[in-house]
Amino acid sequence: MTTQADTETVEQLGKWKQTRYIELHRKLLGLKIKDSYLPVLDDHIRQIAKRFAQSNFVLQFEDVFPDEALFCELFWEASSIINEYFPDSKMESLQPSVIKKAANGWYQYSSLNDIAREIGISWEALSLCLKSAFHPILVRYSERLSPLVNQDSWRQRICPICGGKPDFAFLNKETGARWLICSRCDTEWLFLRLECPFCGNRDQDSLAYLTDEKELYRLYTCEQCRTYIKAIDLRRTEGEVLFPLERIVTLDLDRQASEAGYQPGW
Ligand SMILES: [Zn+2]
Ligand SMILES: [Zn+2]
Repeated sequence: MTTQADTETVEQLGKWKQTRYIELHRKLLGLKIKDSYLPVLDDHIRQIAKRFAQSNFVLQFEDVFPDEALFCELFWEASSIINEYFPDSKMESLQPSVIKKAANGWYQYSSLNDIAREIGISWEALSLCLKSAFHPILVRYSERLSPLVNQDSWRQRICPICGGKPDFAFLNKETGARWLICSRCDTEWLFLRLECPFCGNRDQDSLAYLTDEKELYRLYTCEQCRTYIKAIDLRRTEGEVLFPLERIVTLDLDRQASEAGYQPGW
């Protein structure tokens, strides 16, 4: 997926009935890197791409955090949007050093509890803010680097670019092969259809999927780790599918999964 997909998703969401949830996500997805930062960022990504082309490696925090000012600006913008919806989440006054520490923790999948407590906000709001600020940066990395990924040899449970966990999947049009989509940078990678993308379970008796009447969407579940992932079957779609939009369209599937006792795995 690309910056273009985000832009089109924001446009589509603008046409919908604006519930608070849709409005919040439309605004967060609309966050953009300032034009003045793009040449520096692109130059940095070009350097990384040279190394990446030689050996695919998961990018470390230092690789994806080339400029503190760029990140902090996106963070503050995201925080002022989030603050409109969660008034207790005051994050605009956070210092760059604290933001960088939190960003590092988020990128490594460390717990944000301690830092959120220090700041005096919920870790959920902090995590959403960090994810939203990282999104346009990481998508830019993905646009440049994902064509270099060797899909036949990857097949891992984490994103080949940023090491993120998947939060959506699709079955491709041609063969019905399952691809995962990174929850952080939207990179797509090929993965086994009969393996849990979170715990690696391959026991067919404890893996299942539910589907809707039209068999367009699937909810893959794992009894071993009690997680789920949503998927769309592209063999049953017409026209272009925007995955950032599909994540939001399928909110009801998250509700169904939660009611059945499954947790998101990402
Ligand atoms: Zn990723
Ligand atoms: Zn599992």
